[in-house]
Amino acid sequence: MSPRQSIRGMHDILPDQSGAWRRLEAKVAQLFDRYQFKEIRVPIVEHTEVFTQAIGQSTDVVEKEMYSFSDRNGDSLSLRPEGTAAVVRSVIQHGLLNPPGLKVWYQGPMFRHERPQRGRQRQFHQFGAEVFGLETPSIDAELIAMVERLWRELGVAEHIRLEINSLGDPEDRRQYRQQLIDYLEPFESQLDADSQRRMQSNPLRIFDSKVAQTQAIMANAPRFDTCLGDDARAHFRSLTETLDALGIQYTINPGLVRGLDYYCRTVFEWVTDDLGAQGTVCAGGRYDGLVGMAGGKDVPGIGFAMGAERLLALLALCGDTPEPPVAAYFVGGVERATLMTAAEALRDALPDLAVGVDLPGGSLKSQLKRADRAGARWALIIGEQELADGTVLVKDLRSDQPQRHVSRADLAQYLASQ
Ligand code: ATP
Ligand code: MG
Repeated sequence: MSPRQSIRGMHDILPDQSGAWRRLEAKVAQLFDRYQFKEIRVPIVEHTEVFTQAIGQSTDVVEKEMYSFSDRNGDSLSLRPEGTAAVVRSVIQHGLLNPPGLKVWYQGPMFRHERPQRGRQRQFHQFGAEVFGLETPSIDAELIAMVERLWRELGVAEHIRLEINSLGDPEDRRQYRQQLIDYLEPFESQLDADSQRRMQSNPLRIFDSKVAQTQAIMANAPRFDTCLGDDARAHFRSLTETLDALGIQYTINPGLVRGLDYYCRTVFEWVTDDLGAQGTVCAGGRYDGLVGMAGGKDVPGIGFAMGAERLLALLALCGDTPEPPVAAYFVGGVERATLMTAAEALRDALPDLAVGVDLPGGSLKSQLKRADRAGARWALIIGEQELADGTVLVKDLRSDQPQRHVSRADLAQYLASQ
């Protein structure tokens, strides 16, 4: 631990990485626009109860992963470990639940004190969406279709598969919980310590255990669908029928339980085998009781969150190739002020073009080298000759087109036409 290093599990996003981040962020923002979601931005710190109450006491996140601290007033605050609880707090506080059907999305850093490893950080980033007030399974399907579209348009669809399950309604879950405890009791001493602890508090979570022997025991556990009530069963059937109609492939995974307490009915995850053990890229589900529990009207809710780092890692594996840079870079043996004036005029004319000026100066050769390193497509050369003629010598650094003189007045138009 050194004060000169970033905190373990919290990473800098460096200049050569931020381009990929911004491309992804732009793509995701556009996707949400296309499905009529509006962005909501909530603080990264909340009262600790916002999370403990929503996420549930006996979950990994609340038991051991939260960054909680008391502020100077003695209030217990926490860095947000996830987005949903904070968004629920916000939409209740601002009375946004009427009319039903609010669709919001968010993005940003989340904080969990986990053991850092590949695909698992202490500060990581999520994109997420929440919909409030819609009971119909069509919205479950629309959320899934939207995320599927993202995978297709990013070119990663082949590497990700969708798993779905239903966790039923609260009464179904109570019944199932008992069945599971009855099944597990004879195996209790063979379960790992965490799972033994969860036997009474939250036995469904034992499905999430990564311990092989526990997993083997859970493989033969009774399945939830025997306890699904009629309403939850009809909801799930309607969802699968809509997914079939939309041509979306899925597998039903009866062991899919999700880590947070608030889920009910539909849960879903997209998983990849290409990222090692941390293969869940996006996960979500229904949380019909959460808004009521958090002090709002008793309206249903559904949402998901995707891990930006895992998605970017997958994109890198799939050969995400950035667009070739389009930039221009002024060089030449005249005053820097002359180059800067020409650059300002070009920025006025072409707001989308990145324009650099070689500030160190020196030999033309070293200036051109820096133009190349700056990722410029064009070197725009102004020497004594060009200054006298009112021209610029345009050199395309990315092709072997011959260089040519263009008048200063026509420069923007010429570059735009290339
Ligand atoms: P996991 O089983 O991997 O711990 P989780 O159930 O805790 O996941 P969620 O709370 O559902 O995860 O978060 C949604 C997504 O956010 C995950 O699918 C993953 O892509 C990402 N994510 C969660 N925790 C981390 C982390 N510590 N580092 C990086 N990404 C994460
Ligand atoms: Mg986790």
